[in-house]
Amino acid sequence: MAQGNHLIAGAWRDGAARFSSSPASGAPASYAQGDADLVDAACQAAEEAFWSYSATSREQRAAFLEAIAEEIDARGAEITATGVAETGLPAARLEGERGRTTGQLRLFATHIRDGAYLDCRHDPALPDRAPLPRPDIRMMQRPLGPVAIFGASNFPLAFSTAGGDTASALAAGCPVVVKGHEAHPGTAELVAEAILAAILRCGLHPGTFSLVHGGSHEVGGALVRHPLIQAVGFTGSLGAGRALFNLCAQRPVPIPFFGELGSVNPMFLLPGALAARAQSMAEGWAASLTMGAGQFCTNPGLLIALESPETEAFVQAASQALAKVGSQTMLTDGVAQAFRDGRDRVAKSAGVREVMTSVCDLRTATPYLYATSGAAWLANQELAEEVFGPLGLIVKVQSLDEMLSVAGSLQGQLTATLQMEESDTDLARQLMPILERKAGRLLTNGFPTGVEVCDAMIHGGPYPASTNFGATSVGTLAIRRFLRPVSYQNMPQALLPADLV
Ligand code: NAP
Repeated sequence: MAQGNHLIAGAWRDGAARFSSSPASGAPASYAQGDADLVDAACQAAEEAFWSYSATSREQRAAFLEAIAEEIDARGAEITATGVAETGLPAARLEGERGRTTGQLRLFATHIRDGAYLDCRHDPALPDRAPLPRPDIRMMQRPLGPVAIFGASNFPLAFSTAGGDTASALAAGCPVVVKGHEAHPGTAELVAEAILAAILRCGLHPGTFSLVHGGSHEVGGALVRHPLIQAVGFTGSLGAGRALFNLCAQRPVPIPFFGELGSVNPMFLLPGALAARAQSMAEGWAASLTMGAGQFCTNPGLLIALESPETEAFVQAASQALAKVGSQTMLTDGVAQAFRDGRDRVAKSAGVREVMTSVCDLRTATPYLYATSGAAWLANQELAEEVFGPLGLIVKVQSLDEMLSVAGSLQGQLTATLQMEESDTDLARQLMPILERKAGRLLTNGFPTGVEVCDAMIHGGPYPASTNFGATSVGTLAIRRFLRPVSYQNMPQALLPADLV
């Protein structure tokens, strides 16, 4: 059972102040609040751990990741019960998310055992080359050092304490300091308990992992500014992400900030697809938009379609499907309020028309659908901003050229989707070069909310979808964020890392 304390280098520690959790159900509990001293203790321990942890073999780290997965599964029932109470997410969703979390840990174990991620290269010496001989040069990826991870509110397991960011950093050989999210401190602590059990089982340095609870902005700021932290993984809002990114850039020694921020995930409904399957597309879209109360960064909140009777049929079918979705509990009171603020911003915008509205209050959300014209959307950049929750905006364009203009005006996105039939191929071909510059993942005839954890997945995109569009926070490529290439020139074998020999 969670005790309400921080885990700093193997010890459970209280803080100078405490905060109260705000669960969706059940009684609030008291949690130690983080502060700069606790952050410092965790970072010092992580730096100390780095020397031994970065020198572990790939096999040792793989066994550690698997041990974490086993320890999480062993606490499965308690994690689900605590997570349900704290977040209001259904038990089945949290159980699925636990499977995704342990699956990610095991996937990274397999990935590092294989070793290809090290990208080892060797240019053998050419002593007889004229006019100058070539030295022997080898290269491989090395772990960066201690990494700070911010747990996300909307994935209390898969993007949190032992989520993809933590799994990829640990796999790379980097100790991790997690800043827990206030929305699920008990869940975070139970997962931290599982990681500690794995550390003890595997005989690793206790500074390899620490959890500092939040409770004030001081914690996040102190963490990203700490001189021993070498990189940051973050999932959350554009505002917070940008503030933390700026802090990283302003450090005397700037560090990479891998922020996965907002996205409206545009979906283009092409004429052939609308003519062939408006009804089923509308039902599929409504389900994707409202899944998990719309609290997914891949939520397809923006639709673009040519003004036509087929588009009207889609809108009608979508409205009917949305009207059947009841009220859902949101992750926190703050997320619910932010949803209503976003809804009001859209509703009051010039040229926006209500299509399907409902009533929600307190910590709940119900679906909303609005419509606007291509011209109104192009004239108002605020309409391109994410509303985190089950809100859809359909942009009805007058011509295919206007559709291309809307595509060209999009900000960076995590995903962009084309709903198309073969007859739409020419138009899709015109959209593709534009969308490739806008999004990290392009889909046809599907919905973006499911993010497969695999080798080819990119979950990231040009700013503001993420702060580093060369990176992904999902899939095995996520490990590259926490590695740095090092060349070894004319190095005797005795001094080379084991993986290069
Ligand atoms: P958030 O406000 O972005 O907070 C994320 C983390 O950053 C928390 O740990 C927060 O902790 C910390 N933080 C926030 N502002 C900070 C600052 N100025 N300095 C230092 N640390 C700071 O996200 P959230 O609380 O999860 O949800 C709020 C909104 O974020 C939602 O309504 C939604 O719009 C958006 N969101 C988007 C995604 C996505 O994937 N796109 C995911 C989740 C949320 P403290 O509050 O303890 O400082």
